[in-house]
Amino acid sequence: MSTNQSNNADWIARDLAVLWHPCTQMRDHPHPIPLLPIVSAQGCWLQDADGKRYLDAISSWWVTLFGHSNPAISAAIAEQAARLDHVLMAGFGHPPAVQLAERLLAMVGEPMRRVFFAEAGSAAIEIALKLSFHYWRNVGQPKRKRFLVLDQGYHGETIGALSLTSVSLYRDTYGELLLEPLFALSPDSRLAEPGESAADYALRCADQLEALLADNDGEVCAVVLEPLVQCAGGMAMYPASYLRAVRAVCDRQQVHLIADEIAVGLGRTGTLLACDQAQIRPDILCIGKGLSGGTLPLAAVLAPESIYQSFLGEYGSGKAFLHSHSYTGFAIGCAAALATMDLLEAAQQGLPQRGERLGQALSELADHAHTRHYRRSGLIAAVDMVCANGQPFPAEQRRGLAVYRHALQSGVVLRPLGDTVYAFPPLSISDDEIDTLAQVALESVHAATR
Ligand SMILES: *Cc1c(COP(=O)(O)O)cnc(C)c1O
Repeated sequence: MSTNQSNNADWIARDLAVLWHPCTQMRDHPHPIPLLPIVSAQGCWLQDADGKRYLDAISSWWVTLFGHSNPAISAAIAEQAARLDHVLMAGFGHPPAVQLAERLLAMVGEPMRRVFFAEAGSAAIEIALKLSFHYWRNVGQPKRKRFLVLDQGYHGETIGALSLTSVSLYRDTYGELLLEPLFALSPDSRLAEPGESAADYALRCADQLEALLADNDGEVCAVVLEPLVQCAGGMAMYPASYLRAVRAVCDRQQVHLIADEIAVGLGRTGTLLACDQAQIRPDILCIGKGLSGGTLPLAAVLAPESIYQSFLGEYGSGKAFLHSHSYTGFAIGCAAALATMDLLEAAQQGLPQRGERLGQALSELADHAHTRHYRRSGLIAAVDMVCANGQPFPAEQRRGLAVYRHALQSGVVLRPLGDTVYAFPPLSISDDEIDTLAQVALESVHAATR
């Protein structure tokens, strides 16, 4: 059966006979959750096997930066694939990895001096936590074994990354398998007490974090957080002042600050890095998701020279970072990322304006009788659906699912996190597409909260 002869029904039947989909209760397919066979995609649009088009308002889980099947990125991939696909990175190197590392370091600036490539974001988190732990051993502080993370944080789903993830939906089942981090208050502005400003609440959270570190003095390797937006934790947003405060706390308490910019980095919040808005740099930086423009799994961990130097020593000293993945630094992925960085540099100036345009379009949704806590950071915008009395809907009513289904009917992919409806579109979304997104989001929330 060829792609163009088969329709949705054929592909759905074959799919459900053989595939196990991620993050899915498979019994929910195809009812109440439809399954869509996508056969092509261009720009912000996906097309199913019946020929229906859908605006990808969530960048296919936050990876697509400059539209699907972007011609410049596709061409770079094709060219690199014909020249050099991949070579192991132990004992070998290649121009795309060197160029991409140079490029990323130039973009991020001091103190970052070294790039370690990974595939998935979770792998980058594993690397970051092992690097931090190993650094402290290398410098004679082997008692540091714990990590401090934020409530509502998400850092991936492999065992180490899941250990740093607070979101209970993902964590609870595997709790007994996991490392036990220290959990600090989430600076989520929605959690401020009545009468307390978001900024005051953020500072209170930073104080609490410092107290936790002080109570566990000498035992913590690093604080790990998602700058500005806790994405999987419900698009929770907080002020940049919190990042500045936590940077100062980490300096005072002598622990690493690991910034997980896998979701928020590379322009999503309106700046190249979310950390830019606080004018800080972490000790270890993780980027991923959009790094290849959403085409190939590629992530990177950036570190300063001081961390790198601590790993140098005699052969057999146990100092070397003996970590690898089969595809570490694969050439095709690096070539895709180089093309993506060209596009990002060209788009960078216009990002704040893109974000404002999205914000204007969503203003009716922000004011809807059944929404509250509208918030936006660059091109990430979110709102929570609530009952008429302002209380949350009972979870079993699955209002978010109703939004998902209604929006799909109308040709837009919105995939709420619980009852939080959000937009996370490609940075290249046009004004017309923003208007379509906003209109359908409004109608879908309306339909789901009636
Ligand atoms: C998606 C995500 C990860 C994990 O990345 P994968 O590529 O899915 O493994 C880690 N941290 C954050 C903040 C993420 O959003």
